[in-house]
Formats: sequence, structure tokens, C-alpha cells
Amino acid sequence: MLYSVRMRSAQGGAHEAGGRHISGAERLVPEQHIERIAGEMVARALSHSRGSADFINITIDKVRTDELCTVPLLTVKTVDVPHAEAGRKAAMAALVQTGVSEQAVQAGMEALLALPDSMRGAMLLCAETGKRLDGTGQSGVRVSRMDIADDQDYRQCLENLGLTNVHVREALVLASKVAAAPGVVAELCWSDDPEYTAGYIASANGYCRFTQLKSYGSPVGGRVFFIRPGIDLEALIAYLRRQPVIVTVK
Ligand code: AMP
Repeated sequence: MLYSVRMRSAQGGAHEAGGRHISGAERLVPEQHIERIAGEMVARALSHSRGSADFINITIDKVRTDELCTVPLLTVKTVDVPHAEAGRKAAMAALVQTGVSEQAVQAGMEALLALPDSMRGAMLLCAETGKRLDGTGQSGVRVSRMDIADDQDYRQCLENLGLTNVHVREALVLASKVAAAPGVVAELCWSDDPEYTAGYIASANGYCRFTQLKSYGSPVGGRVFFIRPGIDLEALIAYLRRQPVIVTVK
């Protein structure tokens, strides 16, 4: 039996009371690991590089086994770029290759660059027009209830790729769930950790990291999901928020 353990933390009060988002985390774990994982999440919320949280919400609920679905881990490629501007240019070209229109790629990049501060979730943009589709304003759509099938395997797989940081560990699981969603064409992301400048684009064809997508020291990060027009948006958002997904290493 698995439990969804998720954390969101903010500074200056709860998110819903206008607090500034500090960090979040999502795991699916067996009962015997709940305490340890929840403890690690609290420690992280209290010592995040974006600041110390004064509001921490941990939610734990049981996931029905018959609800679980599995998706494959995306393949990973890293592209070295000399600076953030070059990284963003390369990421934009790669997004067009996935089938997102140039107009939508431009809109997605501008939406991320214009963020006054990090959101808690992602913006959903039409992959053709670039128009924002979700009605969630500054909070965004948070992807939840996902984890890797086997931690040890995953660690080994990432080590073989020379990737050991927690950002990639978490982002690759999230991106694998998102890329498998009905109607998602691609994702663009960079972290809100001021010390972490790498970012990625992902699609069903793989996860492509760019060593620099934002400048060092910036506490603003975000995610954009590019959505095929005409799909059932409500069903997609329900999948992203609530469908429990286990990601398997091939
Ligand atoms: P991170 O990769 O954790 O540094 O997050 C970068 C940005 O991605 C955050 O500021 C959020 O806007 C967004 N984000 C983080 N976690 C999620 C999630 N579980 N679902 C949707 N968006 C997220």
C-alpha cells in the first residue's frame, strides 16, 4: 500500500493567505517510510535557499492500488551552453522540434521571464496560440502523486549519467508523469533555487537539460506545459493533480 506524502511551504503565512511560496515536494511511499520522508520534507522547508518557511503544510493520504498507473522514465540528454541566453535560445529551438508553435514557445518563454516571483505550480499554455489555458492565476497547477518505482535503480541510473543532484531526481519524475499526460506536447522549466541555473525541456521524446537557462542568484523559476488544442482540459488537470503515477526505469 502506498501513501501520497506532499509538502508545500511558504513565508509570510499560508499560500492561500498571500504567503510567498518557498518549496514543495511530492512522494509516493510505503507506510514504513512516511515518518522519515515527512521529516526530510520539513527539514527542507526550514532550510531552503529561497528562505525559511513559516508555514508548512504536509498532507498524507492513502493511494488505492487499483488507481496506480505506471509510465516510463524519460531518456535524458544534457546540452552544455555558455550562458543563460544561449540556453534559452537552444531550448526554444528544441521546443519547436517537439511540435510547439514558434508563437507559443515565445509566449511560454516570456511568461516565465515575466514572473515577479515563483508560483507553486505550472502554467498551461496552448501549444498553438500560446494563450494561457488554466484559470489558476499566480498559484498554477501543481502536479502531484508521483514517484519512482525503485529508488536504488534510479540513483544508479542517474549516477551513470553523472547526475546526482536532487533537482534532477525530482524534475525527471515530474516530467515523466507530465509527458505521458494526454494532450501535453512539451514542458519548459527552470528551477527557483537561486544556486541552480540548469533547466530543461521535456516531451514524450525525452528530457533535454540545458546547463544554464537562468542567471545565478535568481530566486524565480517556473514551469510551462504546452497543451494540444481541443483536449479535455479538466481531465488533464485532474490527471496532473490527482492520478497516482509510478515512474519505471527501463
Ligand atoms: P523547482 O524545480 O522545484 O525549483 O520548481 C521550479 C518551479 O516549477 C516552481 O517555482 C513552480 O512554479 C514549478 N513547480 C515545482 N513543483 C511543481 C509541481 N509539483 N507541479 C507543478 N509545478 C511545479
